[in-house]
Amino acid sequence: MTTSVSGAVLREIGETLSIEQVHLSPITRHEVRVSVRACGICRSDLTVSSTDHGFPLPLMLGHEIAGVVEEVGSDVTHLQVGDHVVACPVNHCGTCDRCKTGQPILCPNGSATRRQPGEPPRATVGEAPLEQFIGIGGFAEQVVMHQNLVVRIPKEIPFDIACLLGCGVSTGLGAVLNAAAVRHGDTVLVVGCGGVGLNAVQGARIAGARRIIALDRSPDALLLAEQLGATDLVDAGDDDPVARVKELTGGLGVTHSFEMVGLPQTFELAMNALCKGGSAYLVGVQKPDAILGVPFRHFFEQKSVHGVAMGSTIPQIHIPEYAELYLQGRLQLDPLVADRITLDRVNEGLQRLRTGGVARSVIVFE
Ligand SMILES: [Zn+2]
Ligand SMILES: [Zn+2]
Repeated sequence: MTTSVSGAVLREIGETLSIEQVHLSPITRHEVRVSVRACGICRSDLTVSSTDHGFPLPLMLGHEIAGVVEEVGSDVTHLQVGDHVVACPVNHCGTCDRCKTGQPILCPNGSATRRQPGEPPRATVGEAPLEQFIGIGGFAEQVVMHQNLVVRIPKEIPFDIACLLGCGVSTGLGAVLNAAAVRHGDTVLVVGCGGVGLNAVQGARIAGARRIIALDRSPDALLLAEQLGATDLVDAGDDDPVARVKELTGGLGVTHSFEMVGLPQTFELAMNALCKGGSAYLVGVQKPDAILGVPFRHFFEQKSVHGVAMGSTIPQIHIPEYAELYLQGRLQLDPLVADRITLDRVNEGLQRLRTGGVARSVIVFE
């Protein structure tokens, strides 16, 4: 039996989303059907709606979801009906060497979580197959997903907060704790304090970094960074922000810098602010064919550059851990939600990101 739900559909790049009736096909044995209770509006939803990244249309955006499991397939072992869950867009097969050695983000068989050729699409709108963005497509009352993208969370954590765990929190916290493994005594610079950068600040605080320097051009973002654990704030509009970072670190520069913006200038800044032997982590997204020029002098100083995707998250291990940190009061998520809106106001939420709001809008469903 198909299920009919309301969803916000992108039909043309650059257009607003339209609320339409979406049909979900019956689940298969590895899938779950989830009733969405909250869905954060993430910057990548905005990016993909406004510039062509090659996703098929019509497209269902939204991927930061929290909800309740309504139905599980016969081969789903880690979830039950009634579980509270979040989705995490690390598409991985779960059985290859990479997956088995704790590196699902490097899984070469990510498409294993998609329906295979010949199977009906999970979702349709009218007669057309509806593409679910990165395997989720959460701007809808319900979604059908592969079980590998779905993680159980404690029932105490509210949906409108929990939804952040799957993307913004995993990406920012994970870059610091998993990818860079920042430890006690390290000095950290976070370049760009939006939703993800603010979670990197918190990751550095949780890891016990000695200095946590937040850099942004927005006073509101810097204020929030301070509230979440930054020890020092640097205005990106300063004459020489790198000199300021060096000054704060005894003239040396930081051991770890995190680039959250995805611009050549901010990358350069993240490299220049490092101490000898320091490491820069690129979290901000650039166009796939963008070229980054790196002066060779950095490598004489044994600096290194690392790419990070989705905070190198192992969803089933890290997301429950982050949920626990929240419930213990050690991870602050409430300040990251600016407002709660209904699905029919999704375009306003996207617009809010466009106009540079620091915190997110979250869509809540009754
Ligand atoms: Zn996201
Ligand atoms: Zn795999």
